Amino acid sequence: MDHFHYRNRILHCEDVPIRQLADLYGTPLFVYSKATLLHHLGQIQKAFAAVEPLICYSIKTNGNLHICRLLGEAGSGFDVTSGGELYRALNAGGSGDKIVFAGVGKTDAEIRYALANDVFLFNVESEAELHNLAEVARSAGKIAGVALRVNPDLPPKTHIKTDTSVKGVKFGLDIDTVLDVARGFVGNPHVRILGLHMHLGSPILSTRPYQEGMAKGLMLIERLRQQEHPISVWNMGGGFGIHYRKQEALPAQAFAEVIVPAVQKAKCRLVLEPGRFIAGNAGILVSRVLFTKESGGKHFLIQDAAMNDLIRPTLYDSFHRIWPVEPREGLPAPPDDYEADIPNTIQQDVVGPVCESGDFLAKDRRLPMLKRGDVLAIFSAGAYGMAMSSNYNSRPRAAEVLVDGARHRLIRRRETYEDLIRPELEV
Ligand SMILES: *Cc1c(COP(=O)(O)O)cnc(C)c1O
Repeated sequence: MDHFHYRNRILHCEDVPIRQLADLYGTPLFVYSKATLLHHLGQIQKAFAAVEPLICYSIKTNGNLHICRLLGEAGSGFDVTSGGELYRALNAGGSGDKIVFAGVGKTDAEIRYALANDVFLFNVESEAELHNLAEVARSAGKIAGVALRVNPDLPPKTHIKTDTSVKGVKFGLDIDTVLDVARGFVGNPHVRILGLHMHLGSPILSTRPYQEGMAKGLMLIERLRQQEHPISVWNMGGGFGIHYRKQEALPAQAFAEVIVPAVQKAKCRLVLEPGRFIAGNAGILVSRVLFTKESGGKHFLIQDAAMNDLIRPTLYDSFHRIWPVEPREGLPAPPDDYEADIPNTIQQDVVGPVCESGDFLAKDRRLPMLKRGDVLAIFSAGAYGMAMSSNYNSRPRAAEVLVDGARHRLIRRRETYEDLIRPELEV
């Protein structure tokens, strides 16, 4: 459920008409719903309440400080994948004891920074990394808490670029090497192996991978304990899918039914790292039509949001629903099925101004004929939207607005031309 809905044929975020925000703040514009963010976090908190999990919001999904602070104040910790994300987490009010640090390539400087802030766990992905972590911890006079990230070698689940638990990806320790690696660190004075970490890929629309992952995890935890590692934490990562095309995602409760019993059986503290589930449907990208054109037998809808604002369609072949915020007479609110024959629509490629053929937000999409100035909503853009944006083609990054009931607030101003050249020093 989210709080973007058509009221009298006008798209609102909570109680604010999107058109009003586009006029006030300009486009392209990311609009987030506070109620939706908190609702999604709350769904996970409620579904997993029986095991009192530590929920660590995955900052890489959407790292805006205002959003992180909101989630932190609602009880969330943070999953960070770099020193920069740790900096964000701390600036959003996060504290080390609720932060987990992932990533296959942590630098010494990042490790020292994380140790200085007493992060709860390092998710460690290779033997070499474990040796290095021990060395840096020794020289810093600290003991690093570790969860071993295991690649459980499951069948493919998502897009090739977002599947993280199949054989042959860079993530995690191969499941058949974990025990050999762990054996070498029993009683190590600088690293303490406290947990197991799995992140199965994203977005996942079935409980099956979790079922398979939990079964393998239970076995591993038992073996690690036999080696005398004091395993007390089980981190199941993120990956819960959301509604992109239609109502296709599972409720948090469905995942809880699979994960909770295994965690109880293992007598572990559960950590979760949800990102997309919280932020994905809590944000939209708002754009304005510039031109339409026909070329090579195709219709192009040229609008002012581009691949630098939302790279998912071209990077992952992702589908984002797109619809005018004030559809004209005779048009429905967004159709349930874009492939169906919607009256008064034609197939169009929705493209931006960037100089790349890969600059599109949708291909062969049924949309009404639109005019210059019409405002569009690109839905489900709250996760991996702004976070993956760039300045390509020297396009200033979009502004971000947070809506709370009938109120709205700019939480990141639109970048300026001066912002673009500032880090390049004086010429
Ligand atoms: C990206 C990532 C997440 C968040 O994934 P979502 O699908 O957005 O929930 C969590 N944990 C790790 C280790 C990740 O890399």
